[in-house]
Amino acid sequence: MTTSTVTAIVIAGAGECGTRAAFALREEGWDGQIVLAGAEPSAPYERPPLSKTGELKPICDSEALRQAGITFLPGTEAAVLDTAAHVLELAGGRRLPYRSLLLATGARARRLPFGGAPVHLLRTRADSAALRERLRPGRRVAVIGGGFIGLELASSAAALGCAVTVIEVGPRLMGRAVPAPVAAIMAQRHIAAGVDLRCGTGVTGLAETASGVAITLAEGATVEADVVVAGVGAAPETSLADAAGISTADGIMVDARFATSAPDVFAAGDCCRYPHPLYGDRPVRLESWRAAREHGTAAARAILGGTEPYAGVPWFWSDQHDYTLQVAGLTDTAADEVVRVRPDDVEIWFGLDDSGRLVAAAAAGRGNSVARDIKLAAMLIARRATPEPAVLADPAIALKSVLRSPVAG
Ligand SMILES: Cc1cc2nc3c(=O)[nH]c(=O)nc-3n(C[C@H](O)[C@H](O)[C@H](O)COP(=O)(O)OP(=O)(O)OC[C@H]3O[C@@H](n4cnc5c(N)ncnc54)[C@H](O)[C@@H]3O)c2cc1C
Repeated sequence: MTTSTVTAIVIAGAGECGTRAAFALREEGWDGQIVLAGAEPSAPYERPPLSKTGELKPICDSEALRQAGITFLPGTEAAVLDTAAHVLELAGGRRLPYRSLLLATGARARRLPFGGAPVHLLRTRADSAALRERLRPGRRVAVIGGGFIGLELASSAAALGCAVTVIEVGPRLMGRAVPAPVAAIMAQRHIAAGVDLRCGTGVTGLAETASGVAITLAEGATVEADVVVAGVGAAPETSLADAAGISTADGIMVDARFATSAPDVFAAGDCCRYPHPLYGDRPVRLESWRAAREHGTAAARAILGGTEPYAGVPWFWSDQHDYTLQVAGLTDTAADEVVRVRPDDVEIWFGLDDSGRLVAAAAAGRGNSVARDIKLAAMLIARRATPEPAVLADPAIALKSVLRSPVAG
C-alpha cells in the first residue's frame, strides 16, 4: 500500500487533542476519511472536571462525530505502528492504512514506586468514578503530591466533608510551574479550609492496618488514612512511537508543525514535546487543556499542508476551593520577578527574563478575579514585550494601556 492510494487520516487517542483535530480537519476542508481511535470505552470527555466537581463533561457525543463523518472507534487501542508501510494496527489485528497519522495519546498518571496498600490515581473517568465513590463525609483522605491535580482533589474532598492531608516532598506546593508567592496564597487557602499540609517530607511506605492505611513519612511520622490518592505527575504516552523508532525524549519529539521524525506521522497534545518560538525554540511539553485543543487545531492544519509554526502562549488554570489560579508563559524562564498588588489585595506576579522581556505571569484569587490581568499579560508575552518593571508593579497603570504603549513593542 502506498500513501498515494490511501486517503485516510488516522488519529490515535480520542482525548481533547485528538477529538479537536478530527473536527478541525473537517473545518479546514478535508473531505476524505477520518478515523479516530480511542482506547477509552466512552465518547470523548473533558478531564479538568474530574478533579473538581467530578461531573462528566462530554467534548462531543457520538452523533456529532457521525454527522461530521468521523469514524469513531471507542475502546480501541492502537497497538503497532509501521511507519514504512504507513499502517496503524489496532489491538485485535485490524490494520488501518493512513495517508497521515496523528498521535494524540496524551499522558498517564504516574504510580508510586511502592505498593503495600490500594492507591487511587486520577486520570480517567473510570479513575474518578472509583475515587468519588469513596469520598464520604468524615473519611480521612491522604493526597500524596502537592501539584494541581492533588490539590484540586484535596479541595473537592474537603468540600465533601473529608479530613484531608496533603503530603508533598518538595519544600512547597506546586513547585514545578507556579511561582512561590502565588503558591503561598493557595497554601493559605488550603490551611483555612482545614487541609493538613505536610511539605518537605516524602512517603517511604504504605501498609494496610485494621483501621485503614498507615503512610510512613521520611521524617518518621505516620499519617493514617481511609483513602489514599497519588497525584505525583503524569508521564507522556509514547509507547507506540518508541516501538516504531520515532524520536522521543520525555515526549514524542516534534517540530513546530507537530511533525515527528517519521514521514507523515504527527504528534500533539500532552504526549508531544515541541520547540517553542517564544522561548528560543526550547523543547516544551505541556499538560494543559487549552494547549491540547490548540495543538489539535494546529496539527490538523499542518497535516493538510499548513506551514505556520505553532506559537501559542502556554496557559493553564486550576480551581482550588473558591480560588482560581492562572499561569501564562513559562515561569522557570524568568530571571527577575515583579509583583503588582491591586487595590483589592490580589497580587499579580510577573516574570522577566534577563533581557527584561516579560516571559510569564501568574496569580490566584477568588472566582474569576485574576482572569483579565493574566489574559492581558499573555498578550504582552506573545508580543515579546519589555515593559518597565516599575510600570508592571504600579496598580494605577492599567495593563491594557501597557499593551497599547510603544514600550510594549
Ligand atoms: C484530573 C485532571 C484535571 C485537569 N485539570 C486541568 C485544569 O484545570 N487546567 C488545565 O489546563 N489542564 C488540566 N488538565 C490537563 C488536561 O486535561 C490535559 O492537558 C488534556 O486532557 C490533554 O489532552 P490530550 O488529548 O493531549 O491527552 P488525553 O486527554 O490524555 O487523551 C489521550 C487519549 O488517548 C488515549 N490513548 C492513549 N494511548 C492510546 C493508544 N495506543 N490507542 C488509542 N488511544 C490511546 C487515552 O486513553 C486518552 O483517552 C487536567 C488533567 C487531569 C487528568
